[in-house]
Amino acid sequence: MADHEDTIFALASGGGRAAVAVLRISGAGSGALLDALCGHRPPPRRASLRRVRDGRGETLDRALALWLPGPGTYTGEDGAELHLHGGPAVIEAVAEALVRAGARPAEAGEFTRRAFLNGRMDLTAAEAVADLVEAESAEQRRQALRQMEGALGALYEDWSRRLMRILAQQEALIDFPDEGLPADVAVALEAEMAVLAAEIGAHLHDDRRGERTREGLRIAIAGPPNVGKSSLINRLLERDIAIVSDLPGTTRDALEARLVLGGMVMTVIDTAGLRETADRVEAEGVRRARARAAEADIVLAVRDVSAPGEAAGAGAIVAGAGVVIPVANKVDLAAGRAADGAIGVSALTGQGLDRLREALIAAGRRLTARAGPPPLTRARHRAALEAALAALTRAMAEGSEELRAEELRITLRMIGRVTGRWGVEEILGEIFSRFCIGK
Ligand code: GDP
Repeated sequence: MADHEDTIFALASGGGRAAVAVLRISGAGSGALLDALCGHRPPPRRASLRRVRDGRGETLDRALALWLPGPGTYTGEDGAELHLHGGPAVIEAVAEALVRAGARPAEAGEFTRRAFLNGRMDLTAAEAVADLVEAESAEQRRQALRQMEGALGALYEDWSRRLMRILAQQEALIDFPDEGLPADVAVALEAEMAVLAAEIGAHLHDDRRGERTREGLRIAIAGPPNVGKSSLINRLLERDIAIVSDLPGTTRDALEARLVLGGMVMTVIDTAGLRETADRVEAEGVRRARARAAEADIVLAVRDVSAPGEAAGAGAIVAGAGVVIPVANKVDLAAGRAADGAIGVSALTGQGLDRLREALIAAGRRLTARAGPPPLTRARHRAALEAALAALTRAMAEGSEELRAEELRITLRMIGRVTGRWGVEEILGEIFSRFCIGK
């Protein structure tokens, strides 16, 4: 890993031409770099207009310069910002001048990594920075912001502190088995462990609400061929579409597109016609479509109300999936036949589409919305907390005081991995490598 003594820089604004490009600099050499490039550094935290020159004295740009002495900065180090004119030639020339003056380009996530290493934020907050940068919906933004401001970190820290108290009492029981301690200490200890285990358990069994918000809800559109699934997806997307993406490996069997509905990101999966077939390639498509429908959070089970003797097969096909919303399509051809709980729509005329959107939003809210404590948001946190709960459960069942203390230490270490207080080295690279440069 790169040397943390270095002074680093990166473009904090987006690439390409723009009115303004922001170059961020962080590290002990930031002040000296400003002196070298801008003649002298401006007063702390005051934007000042400066001529930016290279080593030979040629003016590269006239820019706003900020001198940001640590430790009250994003990274906790001395830092600086140059607000340049946003052309590629300007950025390149200034970057080159910075390198000549001793700085180096930052690696992905290096600013936030330094912020973490300097104690400016815990790992859950650092991850939330990445989530906030990637947030596409209002719900994702709210969740990331809350996590970045420390809501999740505070919850896990509270558990850690309580565990430390439990562990201290447990150690006391080992050191002074019979004397000095009130008789009810052991009983209180049992109770505290049980309460903590229940809280961690409830956090884990939250039906993946936070993760669903972060990753987006998966909506499968399922049903027999020709009932109008593709037409319906196009209808849903034409008004609400945010980003359409063809995912690799899903050419024949399923098309995925993202839309933002009711402030939630939804990935809509258009599955291939779900029917028995002799064609081997098509059969594979059907198999995959079923698998996707089975792992979806919401399934739109579409049927064609106009078809003679139309089958009620779609429901059976997606049995086992999340929330199933029955949809009766082509009501324009068969007025009045949509009853029996299904939402009557016409992908052709657009009739009933608003009701369908409302039903999707309501189902999405039930699956993601949550008052009260902040939800679990990542598989990484889930894995560590599951291990913590398992160790805590073993501790509660353990007869030997020494082994119980050991299980409690494991519990503490596992929770510590989430916030980064213990055993963190091995996960650092994995987390920060997913950041963009300049964050
Ligand atoms: P899929 O195989 O389920 O994806 O079905 P398609 O979306 O390809 O639609 C099959 C046929 O039904 C096409 O000819 C569509 O134009 C037609 N269709 C789809 N929805 C409607 C609708 O609401 N009303 C009418 N009249 N035709 C529709």
